[in-house]
Amino acid sequence: MLRCSRCGRTYPETFRLTCDCGGTLLVEGPGAGFTPFGHLDMRRYLAHLPIGSLVPVPVPGITPISEIEVGRVRAIFKLEYLHPSGSFKDRGTWVTVAKLLGEGIDEVVLDSSGNAALSFALYALPAGIKLHAFISYDARREKVLLLQKLGAIVHYVEGDRTVIHERAREYAEEKGLTYVTHWLNPYFIEGTKTIAFEVFEQFGVPDYAFAPTGSGTLLLGLWKGFRELKEMGEIAELPRLVAVQASGYESLCERSPFTNSLADGIAIPRPPRLDDMRRALRETNGMCVSVSRSETEGALSWLKRAGFLVEPTSAVALAGLWKLIETGEIPDGSSALLPLTGSGLKLTEGI
Ligand SMILES: [Zn+2]
Repeated sequence: MLRCSRCGRTYPETFRLTCDCGGTLLVEGPGAGFTPFGHLDMRRYLAHLPIGSLVPVPVPGITPISEIEVGRVRAIFKLEYLHPSGSFKDRGTWVTVAKLLGEGIDEVVLDSSGNAALSFALYALPAGIKLHAFISYDARREKVLLLQKLGAIVHYVEGDRTVIHERAREYAEEKGLTYVTHWLNPYFIEGTKTIAFEVFEQFGVPDYAFAPTGSGTLLLGLWKGFRELKEMGEIAELPRLVAVQASGYESLCERSPFTNSLADGIAIPRPPRLDDMRRALRETNGMCVSVSRSETEGALSWLKRAGFLVEPTSAVALAGLWKLIETGEIPDGSSALLPLTGSGLKLTEGI
C-alpha cells in the first residue's frame, strides 16, 4: 500500500509518484518479521520489497563494509560504488524496473545529474525499457557518453536541477509516457532502504548514519530501512541521521552564499521530498551539516589515499564527519556509517 505523507490517503501498490493532493508517497509494508533469505544480493530482502515474480537482471549485490578509525570515531564505509553501474542508485533502480516490468511499462522519462540515469539505462537495456534521460548541459561528459552507449535518448536542458525536473515531467505528460524521477518515486526508496538491512546484518546499528543529501533518496532510504527494523522488533533505536549537504545548495541547513558545485549529485536547491527529509531528521534526533568545495576536495583526497576511488559527491560524508568531530557534536568512541555512493571510475576529470 502507498500512503501520502501529507494527507494520509492510501493507494494500491501500482506505479505512482504523488498523491492527488500533491503530497509525496511512501510504501507501507505488511509488517512481517525480518526474514533475510538465501541470496547474497538484493533478492535476500524480497520479503520486504514490493516486487512481484518478475526479478530484473542484473541484481545488485550485497556491498562490503570497511571499518577505519577516523580520529577516535569508528567509521564504517559502505562501498556502494561497487554496484554494476557504479552507484547506490542501482538499488532503487532495480526495484523500480521490477515494478515497471510487472505493469508492462516499456518507455519512461527521467531526469538526473548522471548516476540515476546511468543506473536506469543499465537495467532498462536487458529489460527492454526505452529511456528518455533529461540532463543538464553541464552534466559530466563521460557520463553522457556512457548513457548514449547504453541506448538512452538524451535530452539536454538549460537550467538547474529543478528546471530539468520540470521539463522532464512536462515531456512525459505531453507524450503520455511514465515519469520515473527518483526524487518522488516511492519504489526507489524501497530499494535504498536495503542499505540499512545490510549494515544491520554486517555491523549492527551505528550511532550515526551519514548521507550525502540533495533529493534525499539515500537519507530517506536509511531512515525507512532502520525504522522498519525497529518496527519488526530487531533493533531498539535508530541511528542518528546526518544529512550532509553541499554549500550553496542547502535545503535543510541554512543556505550559504558560496556554492560547492563539485558535489554535483546533491546540488539540488529545492527537493520535493523536503517534508519527508525533515521528518526523518526529527524522528532520529538527526542533524544537518553543510560542506564547502575545499572541504570536499580534502575528503576526496583522503579517500583516494585510503584506497577508495569515489566521485566528489561521495566525499561529502567524510567531510561532514570531520566537521562534526571538530565541533564536538560527534563524541569520541562513536560509530558512524558513511556510504560511499558513487564510483570515481566514471570520471577521468575532477577526482
Ligand atoms: Zn495526499
